[in-house]
This record gives sequence, structure tokens and C-alpha cells, in this order.
Amino acid sequence: MTETLLKICNLSTHFVTKAGIARAVNDVSFELASREILGLVGESGSGKSITAFSILRLVTHPGRIAGGRVLFRGQDLVTASEEELRRIRGNRIAMIFQDPMMTLNPVLRIETQMVETVLAHADVSRAEARIRSVEALGMVGIPSPDERLAAYPHQFSGGMRQRVAIAIALLHRPDIIIADEPTTALDVTIQAQILAQIQGLANRHGTSLIWITHDLSVVSGLADRLAVMYAGRIVEMGDVGLVLTRPKHQYTNGLIRSAPGVIPRGQPLHQIKGATPSLFNLPKGCAFRMRCTAVDAACQEDPDLIQQDERLVRCFHTVPTAGRANGLALAEKET
Ligand code: ADP
Ligand code: MG
Repeated sequence: MTETLLKICNLSTHFVTKAGIARAVNDVSFELASREILGLVGESGSGKSITAFSILRLVTHPGRIAGGRVLFRGQDLVTASEEELRRIRGNRIAMIFQDPMMTLNPVLRIETQMVETVLAHADVSRAEARIRSVEALGMVGIPSPDERLAAYPHQFSGGMRQRVAIAIALLHRPDIIIADEPTTALDVTIQAQILAQIQGLANRHGTSLIWITHDLSVVSGLADRLAVMYAGRIVEMGDVGLVLTRPKHQYTNGLIRSAPGVIPRGQPLHQIKGATPSLFNLPKGCAFRMRCTAVDAACQEDPDLIQQDERLVRCFHTVPTAGRANGLALAEKET
């Protein structure tokens, strides 16, 4: 039996502004097992980052967690004290941001930042903390890690800076790493290297990962399970192979058909017409209905997230087998 490390129940995070309430995270529930890699995908603005920030209670004003629970090994992080949270953040649950400068301080040498990070949670000497820092830099492929410790963040390239941020995330061998589009800003080749490295390290250390991306081709080779977000809600969730080859939600289907790295070469790329709706005062009903080709009167009501074909899906008009022109017929033929 695999152990459930993280259980998110009905999490809602709102931004209350003069323009109205943005329901950035709207009744989101999912679990993460030990050693599991969960891919969290969706277009920009769908609530992926705010979900991640909510887990570690990093959402700042005017955002606030409006409801729900985040159970880490049974402890609710929504109601935990700041002191308890500090013990968990960076130590048991680490986060890698899209911009490594969210982790790094520009005016401090890497050595100072890494050694202080080690000392914040481990009862070891400075010399031991330094050794661990060198090891962590080596693990993420920084050449001459001993010498590079003396450098400042600006003396590294973008890819190397992100590696340093990843090394810091690895320092305490956390149980969970939440990676929020950590390779999106990097060259494709560097992206692939870093991806392979994190995958290898997570596997070796038994770390669970929540990998956030708008890029389906990234998660297709990485994740065990996939959660697709749209307008603050999970619209489909299940085994990655199943969801990518046999999507049920019209939005998932559209995403797959528009992803260059996922559909076979030569097939025309699809475009999902329209744009993500504003999350301010979202009207009742399915949030995808304005862009959906299967829309009808039923979609004026909110669909529930229900179990269907071995996954969860929130749609009244799930994609029928025959209508699934998502280009993944090859994968289906094999089964
Ligand atoms: P993603 O990471 O999927 O691109 P985010 O989680 O960053 O999206 O944002 C989700 C939604 O939260 C945004 O579409 C926006 O409506 C709202 N939001 C995020 N940050 C703020 C903010 N500082 N003020 C108001 N609304 C915000
Ligand atoms: Mg984001």
C-alpha cells in the first residue's frame, strides 16, 4: 500500500478586490501518494500557482484561503501555526518557482544562502552544512561545485541559477517538491536536462512531486497522474496515460490536440477558440462552455466532478470514443 502524504480537501482561495471576487482556486481536492508524481496542467491563469502557494500558505493579500483543508501527513496546514509551517516549508515540502530569484537572494553568495538553509532545519556544524551544500550542487550538475559556492546568483546563467534553486530545494531531502513551471523560461535542451535530473533525483530519494506546467509534453513523460485545471477547478484527473490517450473532458481533449509534443507529427494542430474566462464573478454553469464545441442547455448548470471510465471528470458531454480525434490513436491501438 502506498501512503497518502498530502490530501487536499475542498481547497478554495479567493482574491477579494474592488473588481469583485476571483475564485482562483475553487473547491479543489486531490491526493498525493508517497513517491508519486502528479502533473498539474492548464492554461495560464487557471489557478495552478495559487493552488501551489495555498498548499504552503504562501498566498499574500488580497488573496486568502477561503476554505478547505491541506492535510500533510494528517496535519492541516491551513490551520497550523506559523511556527509549525516554518518547520515544514523548505524542510518537508519544498517549492521550486519559475523564477529562481524567488528562492535566491541577489546580494548573498550561494554559500551563505545554502549553509543558512541547512542550518535552519538541521542541527549540524557549518563545516557539515557546507559539505551538504557542495553535494547538492553536484547532484544538480553544477560543475566545480566547491568553487561555485563563492559566486553570487548573477554570476550564473539562467539554467544554472535554476539548478542552484533546485539544489536548495533538495538540501533537506523533502518528502514533497512542488515545482511551478521550473523549466518554462529555459532553452529546450536545458529544460530536458533539468527535467531528467529532477526525475532521477526524485526517484532515487523517493520524493513525491507536484509538477506544474502548461506544457503537456513535459508531463507526458514524467507524471504518474494528471490533474487538469480550468478556471480554478479540476476538470479531469486520472492516470497520465489514460487521460492523455483517452481524454473525457472537452477541454483536456482540446489541450492535447493543441500540444505539439504530444500529438504525432504531421497531424494538424488544433486551437481551442476563445480565451480563459476572467475569474472575477464567473457565472454559474460550466466555465468552459463559452469555448466548447459540445455546449448545450445542460451546461448552464455546474457539472460535478464524477468518476467515469477510471478517472474523475467534470463535464455533461464527455468526449465519446469515436469523437476523440486527438491523434493518439497509435497508443490506443496497442491496447
Ligand atoms: P496559473 O499559475 O495557472 O497561470 P495563477 O494561479 O497564478 O494561474 O492565477 C489564477 C488566478 O488567480 C488568475 O487568473 C487571477 O484571476 C487570480 N490572481 C492571481 N494573483 C492575483 C492577484 N495578485 N490579484 C488578483 N487576482 C489574482
Ligand atoms: Mg503560474
